[in-house]
Amino acid sequence: MVRFVAVIAALALLAGCQTESASAPQATVSTQNTNDTRIAKQLFGAARVASAQASDAVGGYALGCQAGAVQLPETGPTWQAMRLSRNRNWAQPVTVDYVQDLSRFAATLPGWEGLYVGDMSQPRGGPMLTGHRSHQSGLDIDIWMLPPDRLNLTAQERENISSISMRRAEGAYTNSKWSPQHEALLKAAASDPRVARIFVFPGAKVAMCNNATGDRSWLRKIRPWWGHHYHFHVRLNCPAGDRACVDQAAPPPGDGCGDAQVWVNNILNPPPPDPNAPPPKPRSEITMARLPAQCTTILNAN
Ligand SMILES: [Zn+2]
Repeated sequence: MVRFVAVIAALALLAGCQTESASAPQATVSTQNTNDTRIAKQLFGAARVASAQASDAVGGYALGCQAGAVQLPETGPTWQAMRLSRNRNWAQPVTVDYVQDLSRFAATLPGWEGLYVGDMSQPRGGPMLTGHRSHQSGLDIDIWMLPPDRLNLTAQERENISSISMRRAEGAYTNSKWSPQHEALLKAAASDPRVARIFVFPGAKVAMCNNATGDRSWLRKIRPWWGHHYHFHVRLNCPAGDRACVDQAAPPPGDGCGDAQVWVNNILNPPPPDPNAPPPKPRSEITMARLPAQCTTILNAN
C-alpha cells in the first residue's frame, strides 16, 4: 500500500509540470538543421553528462537546451537533490547559485532544515522522455513543498519518499499542511531579481494575496497554474548577456490576485464548455530541426 501511494504521488509529480509553458515563445535564434527529423527527447534523454563548453542557456524554456551545465551537489549544508536516478540535477550556474541561496533562507524557517530540490534539467537540457514540457534550458527548478526535517536521506530514501500535497478542493484552497513558512519561502523565492515567475496552484496564490502585508510587488511573479501542489516551480530570467537565451514575456502588471481569484472561481464553479471551442491541437514531437541550431552542436560536443 505504501508503495502504491508512492507511485501515485510520483505520477502526480511528473504530471505537475507538463503544461506550464504553453505560452513560452519560440526561440528566435537561427535553425539550420531543418532536415533533422530525429526525436530530440531521445537524444537529450540519453546524454549523461554536461557538455564541456562555456555555460549557455539556449532557446526557450520549452524549446531549448543548455551548454556547460553544472550539477547541483546531491547533498549540501541546506539542501538535498531528490530522485537522483532521473539525473535532472543539472542547470546553468545562475540556477545552481539561486537554489543554494534559497535553501540557506529556507533553513532559517522553523521546521525547515533547508530544501528538497526536485527536477532541474537534464545534463544538456532539451526535451525529456517523461514529464515536463519546460525545464529545457537550465533555468527551471522544482522545489518540494515537503519541509525537510533531515538532510541525510540516502539515495534510496530519495527515490521512495514523496512530497506532500498542499491543496484542498482541487486546488481552490490550501489544506492544513500549508503554513506561514511556505508563504515566507515563496515570498523570498519571488523577491529575488533572478526570478521571472513561479508556478503554484491557484489556492496558494489567493492565500498569499489574502495574507500579504506591506509590499505586494513580489506577488506579480507568483502565477497560478495547474498541478504544482506537491512542488512549486521557479523559472529564472535569462542570464544577463546570454544572447542565445529566449525570455518569456513578463507577467502582466499588478499583483495578479484578481486573476488568481478567477482561477479559483472556475475550479469551484466550472464554466460550461464552449461549444465553439476549436478541438485541441495534437502536440507534435520536438524534432532536432525545431530546436535552435546550437542544440545540435551541444549534443555532439564532448
Ligand atoms: Zn517544473
